[in-house]
Parts: sequence; structure tokens; C-alpha cells
Amino acid sequence: MKKVSIVGSGLSGLAAAILLANEGYEVAIYEKERKIGGNFHAVQSADDQIDLSPSFFALPEVLESVFRVVGKQASDYINIIKLEKHTKVYFKDGTEFYLSDNREIMIEQLQRIDPYGAENYDDFMKEIERIYHETSSLSNELQINNWNKLISTPIRNLLLRLKPFESLSSFLRKYFENENIIELLSHSANRGGVSPKSVPAFKSAFLYPILAYSVFTVRGGNKKIPLALKKLALELGVRFYTEKEVTKIHVENNKVQGIQINHQISLESDYILLSSSKLLADDLILDAQYLQKEKSKWLVREDYQMSQFIVFLALSDHFDLELHTVLFSNDVELEAEQLANGEFASNPTVYLYNPAHSEPERYKSGDRMLILTAVPYVDGESISNRAEIAAYRHAIINKLKQHGFDVEQSIVDEKVWTPIDMRKMLADFQGKIYGGISKLFAEAYIQPPVKSEEIKGLYFTFVHTNHPLGSTDALKNGMHLATSIIEDGNREGK
Ligand SMILES: Cc1cc2nc3c(=O)[nH]c(=O)nc-3n(C[C@H](O)[C@H](O)[C@H](O)COP(=O)(O)OP(=O)(O)OC[C@H]3O[C@@H](n4cnc5c(N)ncnc54)[C@H](O)[C@@H]3O)c2cc1C
Repeated sequence: MKKVSIVGSGLSGLAAAILLANEGYEVAIYEKERKIGGNFHAVQSADDQIDLSPSFFALPEVLESVFRVVGKQASDYINIIKLEKHTKVYFKDGTEFYLSDNREIMIEQLQRIDPYGAENYDDFMKEIERIYHETSSLSNELQINNWNKLISTPIRNLLLRLKPFESLSSFLRKYFENENIIELLSHSANRGGVSPKSVPAFKSAFLYPILAYSVFTVRGGNKKIPLALKKLALELGVRFYTEKEVTKIHVENNKVQGIQINHQISLESDYILLSSSKLLADDLILDAQYLQKEKSKWLVREDYQMSQFIVFLALSDHFDLELHTVLFSNDVELEAEQLANGEFASNPTVYLYNPAHSEPERYKSGDRMLILTAVPYVDGESISNRAEIAAYRHAIINKLKQHGFDVEQSIVDEKVWTPIDMRKMLADFQGKIYGGISKLFAEAYIQPPVKSEEIKGLYFTFVHTNHPLGSTDALKNGMHLATSIIEDGNREGK
């Protein structure tokens, strides 16, 4: 039986392990931390834990497909619930709005504030559906080490149909007139913090899943997602080794031989799978020159780097705050300008996550919430002293008060994470939690190779997944990587 060593137990490593074990490979996952799940972090509070990341869960069918491939039902492992009105939004002028996958709810709200948008809503949905499906098919088509495909006529036509030269802002203005609605849709599509004038129209593809299929929540918290995958992996015979950092990949005659763990033990492997793009930042694992060569071949650059300032509050009361809430900045353009200049926004757009709203039985003594604002990373220097941290936290709590949520007197516990803390938590991403998401068209949709051309048996991805719909991409990465090994294994004989 051929041995596969998977480095990292995030969603991508877990998905890959399941598919490979199901095909009869001997699979082991090596994880440097004590816990499995990678980016899935939770904060302990008096009643129960609360997800620190990720909080926003869309497209559960990708998760379900991992179970389906091996003949199982996700519902036997995890309880996923659909939210009908998934995000409540408060605009600067006090107007309120719900994002929903329900067409009638959307049109009825638009009729009140953007009648032109209400009229065009069906056409808008049709167009983003097309862009979503065409971007997906483009990324599937180009899952191979072959740039020549890019210039073939069908692919070139497909690329042009994705409006590579139009801005998101001008695209949205064709369908909507109200500035609040345009700000909301561009915030949801480009993950906030960047002016829609500098983001290409095809990023509207991100809107389709949340407006057509909605957003979901997991009973017991999102940390149940990696736990469900781990359970299935164990049933299929996958072995887990935690606190085992892979410190070197042994290569001989351009073929992988095995891995070194914790700078000590060496183990043989036929295939090595570096599950997350973050792992490629580690020069210990792969030769830096080799990586640079691969990166330049695939034009991998990181030109959109953002972090988060996060406040956790445990309250003694319940407030009428939904699971997902967005409080808009008074001036979204100024906010984008300040962030682009490496400054903290004077009036930030704030995202709140309040799981007590959907699972009150878990948080009986009061709300437990996370409040997130986009901030520049700026080498972690920008907000480092206590006075600055206290002032920014104060500004955020005040913003809640302006919208009628006076939580200050109810706070029984709180924590703050600055970009420096995020850097520690997400070590290899230096606190830039939105990672290297590129504005460049080709990079966003051409998935770099899943196997090394130079080192036989080595599989990895450059696709960054640290964004608010990233868990889906992480699962897809894992499945792509596993499929690539399975196809090669079938050719070479398992
Ligand atoms: C703050 C934050 C908020 C987010 N919010 C959302 C959201 O709301 N919705 C959403 O869908 N997505 C969200 N995402 C993205 C989502 O969390 C990620 O896309 C996904 O979890 C990434 O999974 P992964 O397997 O690719 O990588 P990771 O989860 O990073 O897993 C990589 C693993 O490899 C391990 N590792 C690294 N080096 C070594 C080594 N040398 N040896 C052994 N192990 C190693 C790491 O410890 C880690 O466990 C968010 C991300 C962040 C950071």
C-alpha cells in the first residue's frame, strides 16, 4: 500500500485524507499544533465556546460532497442549518436591510429604497449566476500545468465574458441606484476594505452563493466541521499525529523519499501533500529558490494584505443582534482610502458575530459576540500600545451605541486581538488574515499546479483560502490535491 503523508490538519488536509484513505492509500496527517482543524479557532467563555474563526459558512454542498464521495451522509456527522435572512445590515443613514436568498424578501426591501434595483434584481441574479458558473468552470479547466490553454479560443472567449476590464462599481451601477445597496453588495463581494472602483467586476461571483443559496450555521459552532471530518477520516483508517511539525522534505533524484518530524525522526512516504498554501511560506519544508521559481512561473503575488482588529465581548444580557450583522462606515470611500494608506479607518465598517442569536440555549447568561473590523497589517506596528488599542476598542463600542446597542454596562468579560495577535495565531501569514488575495484576474481564477513538475511525489497548492468564503476553497483544494494523487497512483499502479 502506497504511503501518503499529509502536512497540516486544516479543512484541506482533512478532505484530502478522506478521499485518499477511501482509495486504499495508507494516510497519515502530521499537525504541528495540539489541536486539529487549522484556522478553526474558538474562544472559551463562561457558558460555551464561541468561534473565533471562521464564522461565515456558505455552500455546505462542498462539505457534503466530501462525505458523499465516500458513500456517507454529512447529516450523520454534523447538524447544518440554513439561515433565511442571513445578514442584517445597518447603513449610515439608519436604514436597515437583510441579505437573503429569498427573492421576495430582497425585492420587497429593494422596492422601498431602490425601486430601480428591485426591477433589475432578477437580471442581476442571472448575470452573477453566469459569472459564478463561468469562473468556476474556468478554474476547473485551468487546473493543469498548461498556460497554452489560456490562449486557446474557447478559454479566451470565456475570459472576456468575465468582464476582466470592468470595475465592480460600474458593474453594480448597471443594476442598482441606491448608494447604500451598491456599498453593501461591493462590501459582500470584495470582503470589505477595498474601494469597489479598484476591484474587477468578476468578483461579483462571490455574491452568488450567498444570494442564491444563503448562509448556514452549524449546531454547536463551526469547530464541529473539522471534528466531523476527523471522525470520518478515523473511520477510514487515517492516522493523526499532533504536535508533529514537518521540518523537512527528503528528496533524492528528484523524487520525494519522506519527511522529517520535529527536526528529529524521518519517515518514508511515497507521496507528500502540503495541504495549505500557507505551508509554502516555510522555507524549512521546501527549498526557497525552488519555491520562488514555481511562484514566478505562476505569477503568484500578494497585493491585497489586510488584517483584523477583533473584540470579543461576553455580556450579561441579550441584545437584538442577529447572528451576522454589518454596521456600515459613515464614509466607505474614506475608509478604503485610509486602509490603502496603511491607516486605521476613523469610522470603520464593523461586522458582528453573535451565535447566541441562533443558539440561545448555548449562551443562557447573555450574548457572546465577536466584533471584527478590517485594518491594515503594516508590519504589526500600527496598533501596538495600550492607549491606541483602548481607543480603537472604545470607538467600536461607541459605534454599536449609535446604532442602539448600548452594550458597555453589560460587559462581563472581554478580549481584544490586534494584528500582532493575529500574526501569532496564524503564524505563517504574518497577521495578514486575508492573505495574498490578488486583484489580478489571472491569479484569482487560474489555480496553480497541484503537483510539482520537478519533484515527483510532491503535491501542493498556491491557492490562498483566507477569506470569508475560504473554507469552501480549502475543501476544494484538498479534493483537487487528493484527486491528482489518485490519478497518478492509478497510472503508476498503487
Ligand atoms: C480570521 C479568519 C476568519 C475567517 N473567516 C472565514 C469565514 O467566515 N468563512 C469561511 O468560509 N472561511 C473563513 N476563513 C478562511 C478559512 O478559515 C480557511 O480557508 C480554511 O480554514 C483554511 O484551511 P486550510 O486547510 O487551507 O489551512 P489551515 O487551516 O491553515 O491548515 C493548515 C494546517 O497546517 C498546519 N501546519 C503548518 N505548518 C506545518 C508543519 N510544518 N508541520 C505540520 N503542520 C503544519 C497548521 O498548524 C494548520 O493546522 C477565515 C480565516 C481566518 C484566518
